Amino acid sequence: MADTIPAALGDAADRFGDHPAYVADGEVVSFLELLRRVRRTARGYVALGLQPGDRVCVWAPNSIGWVVAALATSYAGGVLVPVNSRYTGHEVADVVERTGARLVVVEDGFLGRTQIADLRAAGELTGVTVLDLADLPDLDRGSVTTEQVDAIAEAVSADDVADILFTSGTTGRSKGAMSAHRQTVGVARAWGELGGVTGQDRYLVINPFFHSFGYKVGIVTGLLTGATLYPLTTFDLDETMRIIENERITVLPGAPTIYSSLLSAPGRAERDLSSLRLAVTGAAVVPVVLIERMRQELQIDQVVTAFGMTEAVVVTMARDGDPADLVASTCGRAIPGMETRIDPETDELLVRGDYVMLGYLDDPDATAAAIDADGWLHTGDAGTLDADGNLAITDRLKDMYISGGFNVYPAEIEQTLARLDGVQDVAVVGVPDERLGEVGRAYVVGSVAPDTVIAFAQERLANFKVPRQVTLVDALPRNLSGKVLKNELRDATGG
Ligand code: ATP
Ligand code: MG
Repeated sequence: MADTIPAALGDAADRFGDHPAYVADGEVVSFLELLRRVRRTARGYVALGLQPGDRVCVWAPNSIGWVVAALATSYAGGVLVPVNSRYTGHEVADVVERTGARLVVVEDGFLGRTQIADLRAAGELTGVTVLDLADLPDLDRGSVTTEQVDAIAEAVSADDVADILFTSGTTGRSKGAMSAHRQTVGVARAWGELGGVTGQDRYLVINPFFHSFGYKVGIVTGLLTGATLYPLTTFDLDETMRIIENERITVLPGAPTIYSSLLSAPGRAERDLSSLRLAVTGAAVVPVVLIERMRQELQIDQVVTAFGMTEAVVVTMARDGDPADLVASTCGRAIPGMETRIDPETDELLVRGDYVMLGYLDDPDATAAAIDADGWLHTGDAGTLDADGNLAITDRLKDMYISGGFNVYPAEIEQTLARLDGVQDVAVVGVPDERLGEVGRAYVVGSVAPDTVIAFAQERLANFKVPRQVTLVDALPRNLSGKVLKNELRDATGG
């Protein structure tokens, strides 16, 4: 079985041939054509001097071109560094510097182009080759032959570093997590098997490709299973419903916010979304009501939750056939190859196994702080495991606050308030309080009176958990993974 990206791509071309690998912007690209484009681009990269182990940044929104630029990196023996498409030029320059990238692939027309030009004019990014995604097909291949790149691709070993993915930066500066080919291919395969993904599936990828849920369990799972991928550049509700209906999409993973917007979308009733068979959500605490509505109102057969993080990709996942209440209240149990444990003193979730990253890029201290001597990755999340190993995430340890001596996990309060009519979105943070040390402040999106929110909480929660303040806002600050940036909310309160 293939255990490197180039081998997985070669196998996919052999096994799935003319079957569509990608459909986007009216273009259909088969697995064979994908291999052809990847080889051609890899020849161009090598002609530019790319050496095995060199890093390549890809900075663009989801597109077929992104896939080619990324897979060609692996095919040429390089290390893929996907860059957040919302980053500014300065943030990209920072990633380029931190990774020592040789090549940066940028999409024309996208903000990247001009920003890169500005940076270069200012003397930054010297010695780095910047390529335009649209120019990749015509890249000068010099005298580099297909046989030469095939040999480079074959020499890629399962233990070589395949990619460096940056964490979402929810709790601080993003960290680069390094994975070997064996890990990236292995987790993509495990995820595909658990979801029962096959060549019959049509898989809509809303998750950004620069995130492990877009790249690893999106692009790489597609290669291993033969599923056809539909990359979405930006999340647009009407466009999403149109694609699901017209293309008969079967697999739709996404952050919880994607499904909540689908559920409240005007005109949804007129759309036929019945082709959906598998929805995998996670990345943030998933309200129980959301799971129930996805099953009942969107009629998705298999709605499962998963727990993942950049440093370990997919850790747990619910299984098809798991009872509904279990799926709603937990994110399933460890996937094959992974183990989970809760530190009894701190309640922290610890994770060990095949897909735990090799380490953080150039940061042995951070790596040693994250992965202990026995190989357990400290996730920074508090959680519980039931007798069968099903994981329930309580909250991030960093978001917990102490009110009058009691530990309060905002996630529990958010779950409760999400059930109040008129509340569309809610986040709770601890803010300083003279008497109690800290108290909760709820940020609420929706049309509801603050007193009603507090009264609702008082009926359902112990007094120390009841938020003392409620602030109505138009929207919550979120990053592209759909996670609320609580630091921003805390900073806004001066806390
Ligand atoms: P950073 O590490 O830079 O602060 P981040 O932790 O948000 O950012 P990711 O690696 O994208 O970056 O996200 C992993 C985190 O997402 C987990 O540690 C956890 O807090 C949260 N998460 C993932 N899945 C779930 C889930 N099913 N339920 C609750 N939280 C989840
Ligand atoms: Mg993290």
